[in-house]
Amino acid sequence: MYLKKLEIFGFKSFADKVDIEFKDGITAIVGPNGSGKSNVSDAIKWVLGEQRIKYLRGSKMEDVIFSGTKVRKSLGYAQVSLTIDNESGVFPIEYTEISVTRRLYRSGDSEYYINKSLCRLKDIQDLFLDTGLGKEGYSIIGQGKIDHIVSSNPQDRRLILEEATGIVKYKNRKLESERKLEKTQDNLYRITDIISELE
Ligand code: ATP
Repeated sequence: MYLKKLEIFGFKSFADKVDIEFKDGITAIVGPNGSGKSNVSDAIKWVLGEQRIKYLRGSKMEDVIFSGTKVRKSLGYAQVSLTIDNESGVFPIEYTEISVTRRLYRSGDSEYYINKSLCRLKDIQDLFLDTGLGKEGYSIIGQGKIDHIVSSNPQDRRLILEEATGIVKYKNRKLESERKLEKTQDNLYRITDIISELE
């Protein structure tokens, strides 16, 4: 599994559509300070489902949309698509290539796509869980992240190891099931109340 292509439009400093193809081996992005290098990794984090704006170096989600310059009007939406090779079958779907897309409008509306089919954010997050590429993954190491891993407390470090070993998906499913059980228990209490009122 490897990243094949990143397509960016209207995201942060990328007012024009930019396609970045990742070839075999190492790709380095170089450029002067402030030219948008980190915006490329922000775009990858964002399309993978990052919802925490501080990890995207903004203060509100709208900050990821191109906000204009002296000579250029702001844009109404940001869109990022990421194509990933799946020849190795890491993703449990029959396609040998997966493309995920995220679009955000200034109104706050969002759209998500997997292989051009509309989906939910959760579908994208679930797809990447346990692949190491998810928003909690260890494959995107930002400035200061190594320091953070080394100096984090044992609980936080455990979370990092859990994503790496692939049990986060099952923990999340367990939480979901516990929530459903609680809701069902509440419903049962309510029904018992109604029955005793009727008797
Ligand atoms: P450094 O080498 O200093 O870390 P960099 O190349 O990583 O810099 P980035 O931090 O990726 O640069 O890009 C910063 C630039 O992105 C700034 O010029 C900033 O104005 C621009 N920028 C960020 N958000 C937006 C936005 N929403 N609209 C337009 N430009 C933006």
